[in-house]
Amino acid sequence: MEDHRLHLPLDVDNFIIGSIVEEAARRLDGEMLLLPPVPYGFETHHMDLPGTIDLRMENMLNFVLDITRSVAHHGFKRILLADGHGSNMPILDLVARRRNLETDALCAAFIWPSLAKETIEQIRESEKPGGMAHACELETSVYLYLDPARVPMDKAKKEIGISPTPFIWMDLLMSSPAPPDGSLDPL
Ligand SMILES: [Zn+2]
Repeated sequence: MEDHRLHLPLDVDNFIIGSIVEEAARRLDGEMLLLPPVPYGFETHHMDLPGTIDLRMENMLNFVLDITRSVAHHGFKRILLADGHGSNMPILDLVARRRNLETDALCAAFIWPSLAKETIEQIRESEKPGGMAHACELETSVYLYLDPARVPMDKAKKEIGISPTPFIWMDLLMSSPAPPDGSLDPL
């Protein structure tokens, strides 16, 4: 739950990943339990902007550890943590590792653009590296596809938060050699 500049709603990260997993569950030829989404994430670096709801990293780690511990306790052997917010990923990776070490469930975490890297690369128009990150071409395009009435494109502006250098940039599909704080949050 965080700002996505002026042209996108606060719920971008929840709405996009929620739509993807609901559609995956609909199409699945088999059984899958889709838990209610965790609506908040690790957002401390967004707190300067109105509307952000921040879970401190330790709280988020323990919260998701407890959810996955419960699911594993009830007998589920495959647990997938579907993420819509980049800064959650290091925390969710740790959750998955702990679950794999401490239970006999197999747990993995992913962030949705990683499922479609080749397709995104083919249709991308943004400069690279550094042109595709938070509130970017990708998030805007997917939101426009899902619910165009909620995206006032007249408020969209071309802005790049960090000017790329040879070693540091923010880009969804290409991590930089020396990622700055926040570069793990391209969504
Ligand atoms: Zn986002």
